[in-house]
Amino acid sequence: MGATQPSQWMAGNSYKMYLSSSAFVSKEQLSLVMAHELGHVVHFSLGLTADALTKITNGKTNLLDNWGHVAIQRMTRDFLNTNGWSNLGLSGQAASGYGGLGYWGIQPVQFNNIELIKSINFLGNVKIH
Ligand SMILES: [Zn+2]
Repeated sequence: MGATQPSQWMAGNSYKMYLSSSAFVSKEQLSLVMAHELGHVVHFSLGLTADALTKITNGKTNLLDNWGHVAIQRMTRDFLNTNGWSNLGLSGQAASGYGGLGYWGIQPVQFNNIELIKSINFLGNVKIH
């Protein structure tokens, strides 16, 4: 529903965020897609691209194909909780289930790049009005 790419626009780091029309079905869906894509922007802009794009293969869902997406799924899980939207069945969110990363088939000890998580934690606390 969204994609983010580095861009040559202006000096320094710039990013283009693409949003599919299906992202606009509701305020809640659009907010989730934008939080997800902003997670990518933060990772890329902090120089965490290589870590973020490191592939993983043991996740239970294709929403968890690399470490960046694991961090983003954690953050958007918090974002949905913050806004009371966890049970809306929005597209693009891995089910949190019980036990978080373990439920997703990922051993927490494998995920030691804490910067990927810490750098986007603030987005999980954003309250949409
Ligand atoms: Zn993504």
